[in-house]
Amino acid sequence: MTGLHAKLHDIYDEVAQRNPGEVEFHQAVYEVLDSLGPVVARHPEYTDNAVIRRLCEPERQIIFRVPWLDDAGAVQINRGFRVEFNSALGPFKGGLRFHPSVYLGIVKFLGFEQIFKNSLTGLPIGGGKGGSDFDPKGRSDNEIMRFCQSFMTELYRHIGEHTDVPAGDIGVGSREIGYLFGQYKRITNRWEAGVVTGKGLTWGGSQVRTEATGYGTVFFVDEILRTTSDSFDGKRVVVSGSGNVAIYAIEKVHALGGVVVACSDSGGYIVDEKGVDLDLLKEIKVVRRGRISDYAAARGGAADFVAGRSVWHVPCDIALPCATQNEVSGTDANALIDSGCRIVAEGANMPCTPEAVKYFGAAGVIFAPGKAVNAGGVATSALEMQQNASRDSWTFEDTEARLAEIMRRIHHTCLTTADAYGQPGNYAAGANIAGFIRVADAMLALGLI
Ligand code: NDP
Repeated sequence: MTGLHAKLHDIYDEVAQRNPGEVEFHQAVYEVLDSLGPVVARHPEYTDNAVIRRLCEPERQIIFRVPWLDDAGAVQINRGFRVEFNSALGPFKGGLRFHPSVYLGIVKFLGFEQIFKNSLTGLPIGGGKGGSDFDPKGRSDNEIMRFCQSFMTELYRHIGEHTDVPAGDIGVGSREIGYLFGQYKRITNRWEAGVVTGKGLTWGGSQVRTEATGYGTVFFVDEILRTTSDSFDGKRVVVSGSGNVAIYAIEKVHALGGVVVACSDSGGYIVDEKGVDLDLLKEIKVVRRGRISDYAAARGGAADFVAGRSVWHVPCDIALPCATQNEVSGTDANALIDSGCRIVAEGANMPCTPEAVKYFGAAGVIFAPGKAVNAGGVATSALEMQQNASRDSWTFEDTEARLAEIMRRIHHTCLTTADAYGQPGNYAAGANIAGFIRVADAMLALGLI
């Protein structure tokens, strides 16, 4: 690899060599190290004390067998993961992903990102992530429950409100969090609300947690627009995915006067020029757990479904990738640039490939990275933990106002930090540097950990 500061080059090589085959993890590490050149030049204490090398090595990695019975009575075996990456700032905090693509490299990339994201929120939370290669698609409710119970039967001994606090991610929503929390309660005989977040509103959950990542993404973009005295009003927006993050991003864009004309799932995308009908989308994706192609069918001639192509070929002013990692290729980036897109903000984790990010920079497209843009989800999880600790519950309006304020603060931190390190307007540099400095200073203060 070239381009890294000399002191960081060796660290990257060591990470690549010690973690063979974990390409997403390598990519996430490189992306952060790429921003830290000016920091290590100004602060030799971070490299002298091996803070960055320690940050790249998780505190603890747990891999376990998850055996469960399917509806036909056959034994199924999946692999479970929890990577407890860094707890300098607070208990490990980060979601669980259930998707067939999950392996250690994905969990480590997500856990590594989570350290800096959680640091950026300014809240007392460390970074971790977990999940399984279990595929929930097409599984019955009972199968999902049996899987979650088996998963928690191992995980429970590693987590706790002061230790490690999981939440949802791809394939893990409130249904799965319910089954996981139920099994934790049953095994430990403790109604310990603070052990997971994303809980239902009647059993310890927080208002706005469901909406938080999507809303927070749009609040962040609203702040970007305000810096140029602009607004969402009349903006044409394309969103990828149609899961939790995408749905609530669409809802908030519409509330702020923009029009989302396209969204997708792994089967393809729909274009609805009048604006995505959110009630219909929720009915299909949340209630019926259906496919995005069903949306076009239900809208008759008003919407088109395009199978197997990238949604980034639909022209827009603002693009919000809200599906999965590396979903925006260099070719997709060029399609967005050619169609006049001005802002790309990552609702998902690392959805833009390094090539795409490079092209956006060269074309003057504003690029805002996931660890800043989608931090509203984990920030609201931390608000859920606060409410659990004080046995309190706040109103929707109060919680949403706190989320909006946190997103404004993160946006401000990114811009002022980028300025302070000689890269004005570079949101990625600002997010990486600010996220790094807070956790690195805590690690120095806590001695050799
Ligand atoms: P969901 O499972 O609710 O939705 C994921 C969506 O992305 C689905 O529409 C899914 O389609 C689509 N998708 C997944 N893989 C692909 C693919 N290879 N190509 C195209 N579409 C795909 O997950 P979330 O909305 O919770 O998470 C989305 C992203 O946001 C992830 O990167 C996650 O890490 C990140 N994130 C989530 C947070 C949260 O609070 N939930 C917090 C911060 C970040 P299909 O159903 O066909 O698979």
